[in-house]
Amino acid sequence: MSIKDNLKTVRQSIPSHIQLVVVTKTMPVASLQKAYDCGERNFGENKVQEIIQKQALLPSDIKWHLIGHLQTNKVKSIVPFVEMIQSVDSLKLLQEIDKQALKHNKIQKCLLQFHIAEEETKFGFNLEEVKAVLNHIKINPLSNIQICGVMGMATFTKDENQIRKEFRYLKSIFDILKSEYFIDNEYFKEISMGMSGDFELAIAEGATIVRVGTMIFGERNYK
Ligand SMILES: *Cc1c(COP(=O)(O)O)cnc(C)c1O
Repeated sequence: MSIKDNLKTVRQSIPSHIQLVVVTKTMPVASLQKAYDCGERNFGENKVQEIIQKQALLPSDIKWHLIGHLQTNKVKSIVPFVEMIQSVDSLKLLQEIDKQALKHNKIQKCLLQFHIAEEETKFGFNLEEVKAVLNHIKINPLSNIQICGVMGMATFTKDENQIRKEFRYLKSIFDILKSEYFIDNEYFKEISMGMSGDFELAIAEGATIVRVGTMIFGERNYK
């Protein structure tokens, strides 16, 4: 199947009010261009170097989402152009993003990443940690950050109940944060969850953004 056909299939299973981020990590620029030519504009990458290289070669109306772990010292190289940083997992990172966004006179959209999977390897906050961060920034506001919601990755498993449970947990975190910190904030509305293997479950459990790569481009080759 071609990228075009795959995209059509994926698009058919995503309701129009849900945002698709096309995950392009490891894929060549020509493949991204094909997705672009099909009308896709939101692309997700997980590595800073790769997102910088690709954005320089592709049309400027692409909205780039960083979806992988971000080191503080690399913030300054992506803030000038990224639409959204989905993988915020510390106060230090939020503060650095705010500082760089101020320099570039922009308001940087971010999501708070939560650790919802069983695997130890995945990054992210837990609820207690995030409350400490949000309490801190309530007193010391970050003027150039817009926290738009939450992001998480479920355990890599075939067990649908497990995956569902984790998505429900992320949704419940969103609801708690919304009511305790963002009740009057119209921007805090996104729940980014669901990948190729589980995006339909994620949508059923309340996702507003899904991040899909393999189903569009085929298996990645990490050599
Ligand atoms: C790679 C990746 C995806 C996409 O995964 P697929 O299974 O290829 O659809 C989504 N989210 C994050 C954070 C990723 O790193």
